[in-house]
Order: sequence, then structure tokens, then C-alpha cells
Amino acid sequence: MPLPSILTIPKADTGMQEWLFAHARDHEEIINAIQAQTGIKLTVYNLDQADKDMALWMERHSQAHNDMNSVVCVAGSDLDIVDWAHPNQIEAWLYGNYQEHLGVRTALRI
Ligand SMILES: [Zn+2]
Repeated sequence: MPLPSILTIPKADTGMQEWLFAHARDHEEIINAIQAQTGIKLTVYNLDQADKDMALWMERHSQAHNDMNSVVCVAGSDLDIVDWAHPNQIEAWLYGNYQEHLGVRTALRI
């Protein structure tokens, strides 16, 4: 269960790539659990790769959250906007993202 590792981005040079990988695996686990429990097959978006300006990644990620939140009836927060150049914004975004993953996992009991 990779969930705890998505709350922070590791400080190493490869930290963002590690985070993207762990976070994408968590989305896949959730998608698989939703399919197993409800029969609903959600789209698997490419969340492993960062985009140059991150805008396209943010769009795919927001859609992934909207998809999973709507199935399990978890209220989503505003994860559409973060300035990746500002550590405080990144920290707040990471926490909001973590809370949604946790909420969906709790609803699915995984
Ligand atoms: Zn996410």
C-alpha cells in the first residue's frame, strides 16, 4: 500500500519521479478496487510522467480525482491549481491530494 509515501516528495534528485511513481500506483490500486467492488472501469490516466509545465498532468490528475470521487461519493477539494515553484503551495496541495486518496480508500475499505 503506497499511500503514506504520497504525502511528501523525497528530497533526492529523483524525488519527484519517485513521488509520481508511488502516487500513480495508488491511483491504480484505487481504480482496481473500484472495479472489483462496483464493476465500474475508470480510465487509467498517465500520471507517471511529469509534463514540462505540469498543466497537462494537473488536468489528467484532476479528472482522475473527479472520476474516483464521484464513484465513492467523496467530496473533492480544489486540486486544480498549484504553483510548483512555491514550497508552501506544494505542501498544501500534497496534503489535499493525500486527504482525497485517504477518503476514497476509507470509503472503499482498502
Ligand atoms: Zn491523486
